[in-house]
Parts: sequence; structure tokens; C-alpha cells
Amino acid sequence: MAKVVRTTFLFDDQLLRLSSAGHEISPAFVEGHISRDELLRQLPDAEALICLLTDVIDGPLLDRAPRLRVVANVAVGYENIDLRAARARGIMVTNTPDVLTEATADLTLALLLATARRVVEGDGAVRAGAFPAWGLCQPLLGTDVHRCTLGIVGLGRIGTAVARRAALGFGMTVLYAGRMRNTLAEDDLGVEFAPLDRLLRESDIVTLHVPLTEETRHMIDRDALRTMKPTALLINVARGAIVDEAALVDALQKGDIAGAGIDVFEREPKVHEGLRALHERVVLTPHLGSATEATRRAMARLAVDNVLAVLSGDPPPSPVG
Ligand code: NAP
Repeated sequence: MAKVVRTTFLFDDQLLRLSSAGHEISPAFVEGHISRDELLRQLPDAEALICLLTDVIDGPLLDRAPRLRVVANVAVGYENIDLRAARARGIMVTNTPDVLTEATADLTLALLLATARRVVEGDGAVRAGAFPAWGLCQPLLGTDVHRCTLGIVGLGRIGTAVARRAALGFGMTVLYAGRMRNTLAEDDLGVEFAPLDRLLRESDIVTLHVPLTEETRHMIDRDALRTMKPTALLINVARGAIVDEAALVDALQKGDIAGAGIDVFEREPKVHEGLRALHERVVLTPHLGSATEATRRAMARLAVDNVLAVLSGDPPPSPVG
């Protein structure tokens, strides 16, 4: 029997799987999440930790968990975990890829469409009783989504799922930037590899799907934003710090780009005040990428699969690093 500590709500069926396997599950979480202090208190005899991307899992924390064998992050990104510190202590780290790919791609399209077609501004106008008179040049004219040029930065699992929707569903021309060519996607979807600079210059809409690493932090900075078309939109459903948020606010205020659909923020849950103050062609969502019930259940299931495998001495289905 091993002690499993969790920093968050877990669905009952997953708690049952852990307890049926004979493991003891930590009871404590407050409003869905326990504090670092409480976590430190629970860790000394824990063999497994199920955590979220909002938990900072660093060397000092792992030092307080001498029996820990696995950290199962309920997310695909894992920049919240010090992998080197975990490896040095022989602790396995796992994540939840694939099961959230399609839901996150759907949310990307939702933000893209809402921003391009000014859905939120339109909703606000109707609710405020300010229904704009129909006219050829009426307020709230948007940007065509069908057959536009979409630039995807990072053609991995989610980037490819977005490319599929864009190329096959909307007839978009899709450019992608990354460290390597993806010839499979080029053949299947007709996407074209482009250096980042060209992608930024030529795209009507740019969407980000790289992980947050030291290399990608502020990949979209002042210069990158100035390289984009003044009519272009930026969509970020990856991680906030990939974009220099202050530079984004400046670019939107000055008209260097036309709009942005943003699901993730540099200092979550804090959002730059300048960004919150912008309504025209700016749509903000609170990190909803994977937020459907079916997807969250699948993420919880995969995290528990990972824990059960490691505690049984088997290789986990989705290790990282
Ligand atoms: P993935 O399959 O690993 O795809 C990431 C892509 O980024 C890969 O093609 C990778 O290329 C590329 N890449 C990595 N570093 C790069 C760099 N320095 N320059 C250019 N390209 C680079 O990951 P995924 O499952 O699609 O997830 C992508 C990210 O989405 C996650 O890391 C997470 O942060 C974010 N996400 C957000 C939400 C949300 O709720 N908003 C939900 C799910 C995921 P290589 O093959 O060369 O490594």
C-alpha cells in the first residue's frame, strides 16, 4: 500500500481505482487545491503525487518527499516541474498528452472565430440594447476566417489538430514554423513549412502551440509583433509567457496588430490590466483549453494510469523527459 497525495479534486471513479489497488489517498484539498504548506506537510511519507500545472514542484519540495516515486502532472505541459531535480532523486515524472489534444484544438478555433468575427463584442452590443443598424459598412465588421492564411507556431499534437480543422474545414492556407519539418502533415494536410519570420509576415492569423521552455519564453516579443501584418490576429492557447504580454498590449494599442484571442497569461491568474481594458477584437478566456468534462475525466484517468503503473513497478504510459 502506498500513500498518494493529490493537490486537486479527482473524479470519484479515479479515487476508487487508487483505493481498489490498495493505496491510501490524501483527503485534503481546499476548494479544489491545497496550499504549498499543506502539500509539504503531506509529502514526507508519500510515494505518488498527482498535481496540476499551478503547483511548483521544485528541488526543495522534492527534498521533503524522500519516498516519492512518481509526480503525475494532470496537464500536457510540465514547466511547473523541475525535471532535473526529479531525475536526480530517481522520481518519475508523467503528463497527460493526447487526451486533451482535440478539446484544446477546438478551443483554439473557438477563440480564433470569436476574435475574427467579433462574437463577444456582438454579444455585448445585443445585451446592452445597442443592436447595430444593418449596413454595408456597419460596426463590428470582422476578418474572413475561411481561406485566410493561418500561421501555426509548433506543429505538434495540438498544432496538427488545429491544422486539420483549418485546412480541411475552412480551406485555409496553413504555414507552420518549428524546429523540424513535419513531412507527414505536409503530405496529409498540404501545410507548408516556413521560418518564423516569414510566417509572421505572411499570416492573417498566427496561433501558438509550442511548450513553454527557456527557448520559447517571449518568442513573440515586440519585434515579432511588429513583423506581423497590422490586420493580423494572434491566438495563444499554449502558455502565457511565450508572449511578452506588455509588448502585446502595446502592439494592440498602437495597431501593430489588429486583435488577439488569449487563453493563457504570463502571470496567471493575474492578467495585464492593459489587456483587460482592450475590448475591440480582443477575446480573453481563463485557461479553458482542455476544459470539457470528458477531457478532464480522460486527463484524470491517464494521471491515475501513470501512478498505478509506477507503483506496480511498470513503465507508465506517458513519462516525460
Ligand atoms: P507537442 O505535441 O509536444 O507539440 C509542441 C510542438 O512545439 C512540437 O512540434 C515541438 O517541436 C514544437 N517546439 C518545441 N520547442 C520549440 C521551439 N523552441 N521552437 C519551435 N517549435 C518548438 O505538445 P502539444 O500536446 O501539442 O501541446 C503544446 C502545448 O500546448 C503544451 O506544452 C501546453 O503548454 C499547451 N496546452 C495548453 C492548454 C490550455 O489549456 N490552454 C491545453 C493543452 C496544452 P519538436 O518536435 O521539435 O519538439
